[in-house]
Amino acid sequence: MLKLSGIRKSFSDGANRINEVLRGVDLSVQSGEFVAITGVSGSGKSTLLNILGTLTEPDGGSYFLGNENMLTAGVDRSALRNRDIGFLFQQHRLLPQLTALGNVLLPTLANAKKPDKEQIEYAEELMKLTGVEGVAAQYPATLSGGEAHRVALCRALIMKPKILLADEPTGQLDLETSAQIAALLAATNCELATTIVMVTHSEEMARFADKIYAIREGVLE
Ligand code: ADP
Ligand code: MG
Repeated sequence: MLKLSGIRKSFSDGANRINEVLRGVDLSVQSGEFVAITGVSGSGKSTLLNILGTLTEPDGGSYFLGNENMLTAGVDRSALRNRDIGFLFQQHRLLPQLTALGNVLLPTLANAKKPDKEQIEYAEELMKLTGVEGVAAQYPATLSGGEAHRVALCRALIMKPKILLADEPTGQLDLETSAQIAALLAATNCELATTIVMVTHSEEMARFADKIYAIREGVLE
């Protein structure tokens, strides 16, 4: 389903020193798996996730999502991304001027189309599944942290992505809400058969996944 081989990424720190963040990352994720990648702060978790999300280009290595070579020059990465990849970030990044339902439906507007009836029904179904159907008409400023995160999860799933990428999805939430979100990811993985890759510094969050890898010294173990 997803295969990374020999992924390398370095950054220059501005003073001519090269920071080799990823030094040959190999990762295979099967369809329907829930994978967690742990690592301390600064170990390269976000860099790796941004490469998976085609937001960052690696210096070397290969990346296939299904049969698609995600690193081929000239492919329309933003279109691939919108269709195949859902993102859940540490901050929920909801648009303040749209209702919760409007935010969930936002990715369906990418081709300047209106959401169709099926998409609106699916948005409602996702909001029910994640327990936020009651706040559909509310604006982000009026939502609790946990509610906003659930809405962001629905938005990440509305296009039925091949894969959901989550970067420290519970980083700013209290422990109880964090556990609820992690359990919700596990439920999403089961009920919608969504493939999930989550990076986190928290062993407790990682426990909700089927497989746990650690990133250390630029490689996965
Ligand atoms: P994590 O998410 O595990 O905390 P990151 O992937 O964000 O780690 O960062 C890994 C290392 O790469 C850090 O040392 C960070 O400073 C560096 N880094 C990340 N992005 C950039 C960038 N755009 N430019 C320079 N250095 C970066
Ligand atoms: Mg990070």
